[in-house]
Parts: sequence; C-alpha cells; structure tokens
Amino acid sequence: MSVEDKPLNFLEQIIKKDLEEGVHQQVVTRFPPEPNGYLHIGHAKAICLNFGLAETFEGACNLRFDDTNPAKEEMAYVEAIKSDVEWLGFKWSGEIRYASRYFDTLYQWAQHLIREGNAYVCDLTADQAREYRGTLTDAGRNSPYRDRPAEESLDLLERMKNGEFDEGSKALRAKIDMASGNINLRDPILYRIRKQAHHQTGTEWCIYPTYDFAHGQEDAIEGVTHSICTLEFADHRPLYDWFIQHLPVPTKPKQYEFGRLNLNYTVTSKRKLKQLVDEKHVDGWDDPRMPTVAGFRRRGYTPASIRKFCDMIGVTKSDGVVDVAMLEHAIRDDLDKNAPRAMCVLHPLKVVLTNYDAQKVELLTAPGHPNRDDLPTRELPFGRELYIDVEDFREEANKKYKRLVIGKRVRLRNAYIIEADEAIKNDAGDIIAVHARIIENTVGNDPADGIKAKGVIQWVAAHDCAEFTVNLYDRLFTEASPDSGGKDFLESINPESLTIVANCKGEKGLLQACLGEGYQFEREGYFCRDTGSTALVFNRTIGLRDSWAKMDQK
Ligand code: ATP
Ligand code: MG
Repeated sequence: MSVEDKPLNFLEQIIKKDLEEGVHQQVVTRFPPEPNGYLHIGHAKAICLNFGLAETFEGACNLRFDDTNPAKEEMAYVEAIKSDVEWLGFKWSGEIRYASRYFDTLYQWAQHLIREGNAYVCDLTADQAREYRGTLTDAGRNSPYRDRPAEESLDLLERMKNGEFDEGSKALRAKIDMASGNINLRDPILYRIRKQAHHQTGTEWCIYPTYDFAHGQEDAIEGVTHSICTLEFADHRPLYDWFIQHLPVPTKPKQYEFGRLNLNYTVTSKRKLKQLVDEKHVDGWDDPRMPTVAGFRRRGYTPASIRKFCDMIGVTKSDGVVDVAMLEHAIRDDLDKNAPRAMCVLHPLKVVLTNYDAQKVELLTAPGHPNRDDLPTRELPFGRELYIDVEDFREEANKKYKRLVIGKRVRLRNAYIIEADEAIKNDAGDIIAVHARIIENTVGNDPADGIKAKGVIQWVAAHDCAEFTVNLYDRLFTEASPDSGGKDFLESINPESLTIVANCKGEKGLLQACLGEGYQFEREGYFCRDTGSTALVFNRTIGLRDSWAKMDQK
C-alpha cells in the first residue's frame, strides 16, 4: 500500500506529520505480544497495524516478547507467535527482542528512581495497599513506608531481588501522587516478588517488573517512536510519560491508543481461548474453529485474506464489534478468485450408466478455474459407474428441484447429460444405486432431441477417484456476543460446530493435494487439505454463500 492510495487513518496522519516536521527521521513501531497464548485475530489487527505503518513509511517494526510475567509464559508460545507473524507475511526488524533482556537496565532504572526520591519499597500487604489506594471518588492515603530513606529502599530492593523475602511481603512503588484523579498514578507498583523460574532468565530473578514499569522503557531502549496499544491503556499514558520523564532513557517514545478488534460470534481473550483448549472444547490452539492465527491457517484462510480484512475494518479511536461475516467475506472473495476447482461428493450415491460400455473409459477435461487460464486444467476419467451426491437424486420431485429425477435429465458438470430410469433399493427400501443412461454427444453440446437438462450436478468416477474425510466447520458459538455482560461463553458453544463426514469421494487429482492447499469443491464450498493429519482429510474453510445471513432473515 502506498500513502497516496486512500485517506490516512489517524495514526498515519500523526506519523506523516512527525516525519515532515523532522520530529523523527524514521518511524519505529513494535508488536509486543506476551508469550502466554497463541495469537488471535485481534493480534492480527495489531500486527497488520504496526508492521503496516513501518512498511508504509519505510520504517522498522520490532517483534518484542513482553515476557515480564514468568507464571504464564512458555517457549512454545514464543515459537508459535514467531511463525504466525511470518505466515502473515511480515518481517521484523533485526533480532527478536525480549523484555527480559532488559531486566538489568530496568533494575538500574528502578535504583535511579529510588536515589532521586521517586520510588520506595513498601511493606503493605496487597489488602492494605488496596485500602490505602482509595477509590475513584476518594483520594488515597500515603503508605507509611513512603518516606523510608533511599538507602534503606535500595538495600531492601537488592534483598527482594536475591529472594530474601516472601512473595507479597514487599513491593517497589513509584512515589507520584496518592491523591491523583488517575488511580494509575497513585504510587503504582514497579516490582513484585515472584519466586518463579522464567523461560529466558531461569532462576536469576526473584522480582519481576510490572507492565507499566517495563513497557515504555523497553520502547525507549529500542528507539521505538510510536508505541501503539489498545484503548484500555489510555489511562496509563500519564504514567508512561512520567517514567520517560524521570528516567535517563536514551529516546523518548510516545504512546498512542486505538480501538481493539472485537468480532461477533467469537471470543478474543487469550484466557478464554486457553480455557477452550485446556478443557478440550476444541482440539488445541490450532483447531480450525479457533479465532487464532494458527486456527485460521489450518482452516484454510490465507494470509492475504486476513490482511485484507484488517485493512477493511480500518483503525479507529473507539472500540466496536465487527461482524464476523466481513472476515468470511474476505476469505471467500480470495478463494473465489484463486482457489482451483474440484468436484467432490460428500454423501456418495452410485449411478450405473446402463448404456455405457463397462470396459470404456473416457478422459474428459475441465478448467482449473473458470477465469484463471494460469491454473492447470483437470483430467476427469469417465466410466460406467459414477458417484453423485445423495441430495442430488429423487425418485420424484416438483419443478423447483433441478437435479436428477426418474424420467428426467440433468447435466453432469464438465461431462454428459444423463437421464434416470430406475432407483435400485435394498431389502430395507433404501436407495443404493440409480440406473441411468447417458445422452450421446452431449459433452459440451446440447442434446440432439432438444430436451435440455435443467440443472448441473457434480460427480466422480467410481473406478478412479480419491476417498477422504471432510470436516465441516461452523461457527464455534451460536450467540453473537458469547461473553458479554458476564455471560458464561461455554454455554453458547455450538454443538454442531464440527461435523465429520467420512468416505467422501472426490476427483482423483485431490490425491495430490498438498497440506494446506485450498480448493473450491464445486457446489459445496471452499476446502483445504488438513495439515493436522497424515490421512487425506479436507477442512471446510467456508461455505459458498453466507448461510447465517439467510437464517437471520427468516
Ligand atoms: P488478550 O486480551 O487476548 O490476552 P493481550 O492484550 O493481553 O490480549 P498481548 O500479548 O499483550 O495480549 O497483546 C499484544 C498486542 O496485541 C498488544 O499491543 C495489544 O494491544 C494487541 N491486541 C491484543 N488484543 C487485541 C485486539 N482484540 N485488537 C487489537 N489489538 C489487540
Ligand atoms: Mg496484554
């Protein structure tokens, strides 16, 4: 995207101005995930935004793991996040950064604040501290430890670091203003005691910095110019600025906030997504029903579709709920333009062509895509026995039903017109096959007798086809806002979010499908080869049309 293409969003305007006025020579942004879960679609928006701004203005974007909380973080998440960012098509500037690599500097800066009379070690318990903090309407009260001599705080901090005190017994706090209207400025905590090993620093530290004390300083160390975060941090901005002002930081970053992405029929909270995984409501973080980047990838979404979606929803200064149909539109549009076509029969019913020689096989061809000459054409073997979908045959039907009916004609896509004669049934009366005839010379032609077929159905040659399982995915939640207003989101899990259909038949080219490769199964939807199984399994990415919109209209 170039800057001239479309109106600038508010962040682009700010950056453009800063560059024009020489406030910065180069823009530097960062994407700062905490490695405590997989990335979800909200993160994808933050990624597109931060990396996108760097691309647009020829700057740099860092990938920084905000790993200041050892309790919930894991290396496995670090690896998953890296591959998700790469898959989305973005390249971070230089090495991967870790907040934990700055622990020494942050510690020195904490000592600096103490020496300058701007921080102190406080011995209030969590309950006491809460009571002293006051409320939105009442000012807080100063901690009795607030005027502790700097030497004493320095000594206590050192001993906290070395593990001499119990968790919760002491904390380092900034000395700002217990009467501030902004509660974040009421002597916020900078360091807590946590006797936990960290995935990067091992057991070296017994204290860990808070988000507030770490984030802006990390930005300053890396020379980030525009530190972009979601709106809930707006109230923290004065604190962000306070640290930058009171510390000997090498650069002076600024924080800007944008509205987080919320999607209907979706939860985007790592804690809740983790619960879905831990309680096995889904099959892992990359279950194709999960709104994680890994889930979308396995479902068959393309990086381009996710980037397009993030572009479509834009960047605003207020939170809103986006219709998930927009995301579905983005992938449907992408696959419609790019996915090769194939025929697949989900519920096979055998058709025997009684006037077609049992020994004969014809090789018919079909385009790879109706308007993409660059995609290779398909070879379709045609023989006496075929499969069509159970849904595409009825013994009798009214005029609206334009598929195969006894005594009527239908066109087999890319092949002959056939006419049905008889339904063959088992003892229980179930239809197990259909006897039909081809109408001669109708491949690519209308029948000589002028009796045309009303509809077109897909088919697969019985003697030479692929057999596979299909996972039909639907939305994970039946409610538009599964977790709003304190609702238990588990209660609206869609019991039909996954339907497994075994023994599907597809054209034989599908035997060669690569893992993750997407197709349009004609008349059925968009599917991709599942990366999670060695057997031939296809996941439905999305239907051909929005079936939910139709339901809403009813
Ligand atoms: P969650 O609430 O799911 O735990 P988080 O904000 O705690 O998300 P982080 O790993 O801290 O997760 O997020 C990394 C970056 O992604 C942050 O800059 C955050 O603002 C951004 N981000 C997270 N969720 C969203 C969202 N729904 N929309 C836009 N940006 C988001
Ligand atoms: Mg966070």
